[in-house]
Formats: sequence, C-alpha cells, structure tokens
Amino acid sequence: MVDIVLLGVPGAGKGTQCELLAKWLSLPCIATGELFRAAVEEQTELGLRAESYIDKGELVPDEITVRMMAERLARAECAQGVIFDGFPRTVAQAEALNTILGDLGRQVDVVLHVAVSQSSVLMRLSGRWICRRCGRAYHQLYNSEEVLGICDVCGGQLHQRDDDRPETQRRRLEVFLELTAPLLEFYRTSGILVEIDGEQDVAAVHRDLRQAIAAILVEEPESWLPGSGHAA
Ligand code: AMP
Repeated sequence: MVDIVLLGVPGAGKGTQCELLAKWLSLPCIATGELFRAAVEEQTELGLRAESYIDKGELVPDEITVRMMAERLARAECAQGVIFDGFPRTVAQAEALNTILGDLGRQVDVVLHVAVSQSSVLMRLSGRWICRRCGRAYHQLYNSEEVLGICDVCGGQLHQRDDDRPETQRRRLEVFLELTAPLLEFYRTSGILVEIDGEQDVAAVHRDLRQAIAAILVEEPESWLPGSGHAA
C-alpha cells in the first residue's frame, strides 16, 4: 500500500507523470482538476459550484474539494493506495488528507515536488492541448498528436483548456505561490518531501520519480513489495 502526492505548479507535467506512475504501480491516479472538469461538463451540483472558481483560476473552496476527495477515497479501487495529482493544494487540504488517510490506517508516504521554472511553465501551458474525451495532454512543440486535433489514444477531439488563457494562467501561478507553495514546507518538515527536476524530458522525470518511490518502498517493504505484481 502506498499513497503518493505529486506537487508542482500548473503545467509542471504532473498529469503526464501521474498517468505513467499509475501504469507502473497499477494504482489509480486521482486528479482533482479532472474530477472538477468532468463535473462541470456534466453540470452536476458539484460542477456548478466549482465552475466559477476554475474559470477565474482560483481554488475551489477546501470544504467542497475535501468532501469530493473523501468520497472518492472511499471507493474500492483506492484501497491499495493512490497517486494524487493536484491535491492537496492548501495546508488545510493536506491536514484533511492526513485525517482521511489516517482513518483508513494509511498515510501520505511520499510527496514528490516536480519543480520547474515559471518561464517554462508559461511556455508549456500556452502550447497545451487536451483530449475532450480521455483528458490526455499534448503539446504543440514537443509532444504533438499524429493527426492534427485528434487524440492518438482514443480519437477524441483536442481543445485548449479555458483556464490555460494567459490571464488565468498568471492567476493560477499566483495562487500556487500563495496557497500551495507553503505545502512544500509542511511536507519538508514531515520529512517526506522529495524534489524532482521537472525541467528534464518526460522520460527522465519519470525515471527520477520512480527512483524516489523505489527508495521509500525499500524502506517500508512490509507495506508494499515491488515486483509483487504491482511495481514491475
Ligand atoms: P488542475 O487541472 O489541477 O490545474 O486544476 C484545474 C482547476 O481545478 C484549478 O485551477 C482549481 O480551480 C481547481 N482545482 C483542482 N484541484 C484543486 C484543489 N485541490 N483545490 C482547489 N481547487 C482545485
């Protein structure tokens, strides 16, 4: 059992890396941003409450976000652990996550900070295209689709996220610095933070993430056995 948090500014590559790690570890990747976007698309009550915050680049209030996450973590597919992408994003959410996992007899095992510079992030976000159907991310400069505008994986249409607009991007970065950056200190103090150089290419970042995870799995072999079918 292993619970992993991926931290990083919007555009750091967490979504791509979360998918790769999820395959490697056979664990679900839970991305709060995607859960919110799906709820907005379906116009559920949650989606209607979240939409205006997302459009402005603000965080959805903790109480709504934490409730959504607690419900998700209660599902059977999350029983062996989870890779969190985009959650927690505030210290209050991190404290709530400790409580939710604690009640399940679990804890956050490792927090991986995918660190990239502000200038790289602005470049990455402005060239980012997302599949409407499966959520896969592409980039017009270094990870483009084979057929223009069509997802290689599921054939869905690609579009640019509304909140990738330049003024919303800037706000999202400010929000990160204001509300999410303090989490780095929170987890550093707990001794579970590992810094990863997110400026490297996708494969190199993935390799470093795997190494960091493998190191903690070795420290806690009784809770998770690499090679037991999960971490091949
Ligand atoms: P992301 O796809 O992770 O960049 O998230 C897109 C948007 O969803 C964010 O800008 C927020 O408005 C909202 N969101 C995602 N995760 C959270 C969270 N943990 N807390 C509050 N709002 C969130």
